[in-house]
Amino acid sequence: MSNKETRDPNEIRDSDIVFVCPFCSKSLAIDCRGAGLTISCPDCSNKIEIPIPEGMEVSDIDSSDADKAVRLIHMREVISDSQQRILDLEQDIKDVMTRRDALEAIRTENALRFEVIEREVANIQRSLLRITEVLGSIQDAETSTQGRK
Ligand SMILES: [Zn+2]
Repeated sequence: MSNKETRDPNEIRDSDIVFVCPFCSKSLAIDCRGAGLTISCPDCSNKIEIPIPEGMEVSDIDSSDADKAVRLIHMREVISDSQQRILDLEQDIKDVMTRRDALEAIRTENALRFEVIEREVANIQRSLLRITEVLGSIQDAETSTQGRK
């Protein structure tokens, strides 16, 4: 078996992962080094993930190539977990940003409300000042009337 390139694609080796495409049910045999990878089904072209054989152990395989493959599989599992955690964190960030936007909107709304209240307070103060002026002039008029008496 010197020419790997021309090997029969239908030939299944011990190290191959044999599984069924979940879309077209085509039986597939993929080299174990592909475990955990996403590929396009050669039959239906749907994206499928090559399953990682359960309980795959270094002792199950003789060659160091397979040894490397197992380590690669574990690495892929770790990467897959990390990717899931990244997705979870991204969702958390989105949630926090949504909450922040909501708070920002409330803050803006409150700021606008305060502006309105401030304007109203200023109006009341002006009115009070005007009333004080009017009262003062009435008092002055009374005083001058009394003085004339
Ligand atoms: Zn398929």
